[in-house]
Amino acid sequence: MKPSQNLPMMENSRLNLLAMNAQEIEALVGKFGWPFFKTKQILQWVYQHRTRAIESMSNLSKKDRHQLQAVADIGRAPIPTVTESWDGTRKLLFSLENGLMIESVLIPESTRLTLCISTQVGCTVDCGFCLTGQMGLKRNLKAHEIVDQVMTAQDLLHDGQRITSLVFMGMGEPLANIEAVTEAVSRITNTQWGLGIPPRRITISTAGLAPRLQSMAGLGVNLAISLNATTNKQRDYLMPMVNKLHPLPELLQACRNYPLDPGRRLTFEYVLLRGENDSPEDANRLIQLLRGIRCKINLIPFNEFPGSAFRRPSDAAIQEFQNILRHAHYDVFLRKSRGRDILGACGQLGNLLHEVASPIIRQGVI
Ligand code: SAH
Ligand code: SF4
Repeated sequence: MKPSQNLPMMENSRLNLLAMNAQEIEALVGKFGWPFFKTKQILQWVYQHRTRAIESMSNLSKKDRHQLQAVADIGRAPIPTVTESWDGTRKLLFSLENGLMIESVLIPESTRLTLCISTQVGCTVDCGFCLTGQMGLKRNLKAHEIVDQVMTAQDLLHDGQRITSLVFMGMGEPLANIEAVTEAVSRITNTQWGLGIPPRRITISTAGLAPRLQSMAGLGVNLAISLNATTNKQRDYLMPMVNKLHPLPELLQACRNYPLDPGRRLTFEYVLLRGENDSPEDANRLIQLLRGIRCKINLIPFNEFPGSAFRRPSDAAIQEFQNILRHAHYDVFLRKSRGRDILGACGQLGNLLHEVASPIIRQGVI
């Protein structure tokens, strides 16, 4: 059989099973003249057993495996470079074609294990406080490149460990790559043959592409909005592109209109930047802005990176900001900065391994 021209091919003109969706694999099985239950078996080998070789698909006959091997590969990403922080955080650096790179971060906490994954190489948006934003957009990731980050992280886990939360908070703006993100979520949550991670354990974070919030609702995942400012002027300065397109009032209206399931709430993320958005007046404005929205607030003290003019507020200022919100009965969490020494913390992900990260990796802890 000749591989069909509109199916995802690898550089060597062979089919890439990981890049094919379930319907495409089913079409291939149909072309082979195999019974359709083989589709699920192949998908289970790829996603649940995470096999890298068609040869190991032991419930296919030898003849079937040969037929599949003749036209297809599984197409997993090469093993990433893993850097470990003193605090146990591991950064996975994946090499894509053309020298492009993306990063995922695996963050262990006492009873939790969070994986933070990327959706773009660089980012469509240009937030001034974010290293990824400074790279510009190199390209969108494809669905399988998003899923592969999760599978590769699973390969690295110790016995008995499992990912308890998956956050789309690495490089890139997920809602600027919505088609691939949607397909990736469906493979990640599928319990029949996919990774089977429950949607309630997944959070997608957006810089605020207001008209696209609605399209997240059907996925059943949690939604986080990076607010980061309490006035339109402030947001114009900190997040110029997204706020020009969808100013603060429009974004808040979209949040109010978001169809939240009972028992769910939105998360608002707020990067605290010294002298920019960290005053008690800001905290009070935030209370007013979020009034009536079922939500919690994650405060993220700015993670510094070389070349940035922004600074992290003092611990006292951070504490005061949090106290003001608490007194207004908001659930407020302070995001601990994990993996800062390996530039693995929020906003520190960028394609700068050689320029920035390697001296730090060599030094170990900073
Ligand atoms: N693009 C999406 C998701 C990736 S950014 C978004 O913006 O929501 C994930 C989080 O990191 C966002 O809340 C963002 O505001 C925050 N962030 C970006 N740069 C940061 C930095 N230098 N320090 C702390 N948080 C940062
Ligand atoms: Fe992109 Fe999010 Fe960074 Fe803004 S904060 S530049 S949207 S990754």
